[in-house]
Amino acid sequence: MTTHRVQLRPEIAALVPYRQGAPAEADAFKLSSNENPFEPLPSVLAKLSTHNINRYPDASAHELRKQIAARFGVTTESVQVGAGSVAVLAQLISAAAARGDEVLYSWRSFEAYPLLVSAAGATSVQIANGADHRHDLAGMSAAITASTRVVIVCSPNNPTSTVVTDAEFREFMAAVPENVLVVLDEAYCEFVTDPEAVRGETLLGKYPNLVLLRTFSKAYGLAGLRIGYAIGPEYVMDAARAVAIPLSVTELAQTAAIASLEHEDELLQRVRRLNAVRDRIVSGLLSQGWTVPAPSGNFVWLPTGAATNWAAEVFRSHGIVVRALGEGLRVSVGEEESVEKLLRAAHEVVSSKE
Ligand code: PMP
Repeated sequence: MTTHRVQLRPEIAALVPYRQGAPAEADAFKLSSNENPFEPLPSVLAKLSTHNINRYPDASAHELRKQIAARFGVTTESVQVGAGSVAVLAQLISAAAARGDEVLYSWRSFEAYPLLVSAAGATSVQIANGADHRHDLAGMSAAITASTRVVIVCSPNNPTSTVVTDAEFREFMAAVPENVLVVLDEAYCEFVTDPEAVRGETLLGKYPNLVLLRTFSKAYGLAGLRIGYAIGPEYVMDAARAVAIPLSVTELAQTAAIASLEHEDELLQRVRRLNAVRDRIVSGLLSQGWTVPAPSGNFVWLPTGAATNWAAEVFRSHGIVVRALGEGLRVSVGEEESVEKLLRAAHEVVSSKE
């Protein structure tokens, strides 16, 4: 009997699925996924109930969208939610770009970008970060062609933890044609303390082609429930809704997100605690002689170059699981108890590099 294979899209056959990094041993600190180390707030958990899981969720997530809209002073129709901000980004990309179209972003950046672009059938155009590990926004705007449909700007950038400044972003927007969708991915914006950094909420309504992308996974600690959102022009959000997989945002996720907004103060207090841990990590690294870009997300980028895989093993031997990404290590800011081990590992790496 001849075996037949179904015909798949050739560009998909070459793709490697999204990788999470190796699992952490039970006694190791898992600092490899930029997660929030805190348990969910009891006040958020108290709102969750499983008694309705035989029913479908509200497909439009109306109440949550209404609450987000009220917070940002926009219409409910200007808000779109998805099963993680990655899902909303997939909607935006497939609403705007298809075969023959280009999607432009900085590299290195979030690992899911190239996958989402390929899934839409479009072509990725990657512009290298500058020597300071920051986006080269001038290089990005110069690379826009008649085929460019979407530009993604990630601030703070995963994995380098660097931000785009407000002034840089405004200059960039002035250079981007208004028929090109700009997605400002602000997954980590709640951790930003740099006063010069771009803040998406200050730009709402100022650009007809700008969409902000946010998530409940990081500062709000709901990564496991999968919920994120975008804010932008209504017709763009309508297009995202049209291509969204129906019913993929669970009732549990919607309820938890609403409860998190109600208890935002407590959650942002945790963000400040994590930022204090981040400060301890950075000052420890600097005193060891590391040169690291000033971090604005809940993670720190260690440029380890050719020694990256070895360095990741050193961290693992100290009970710290980090993410090795090409030319560096991304280390999440986690439990206070992880700092000492983390710095011991970093010291071993930096002293053998000398
Ligand atoms: N954007 C960036 C820059 C990220 O790092 C991540 C998660 N690692 C996401 C978006 C997606 O997060 P989620 O789908 O959990 O909202």
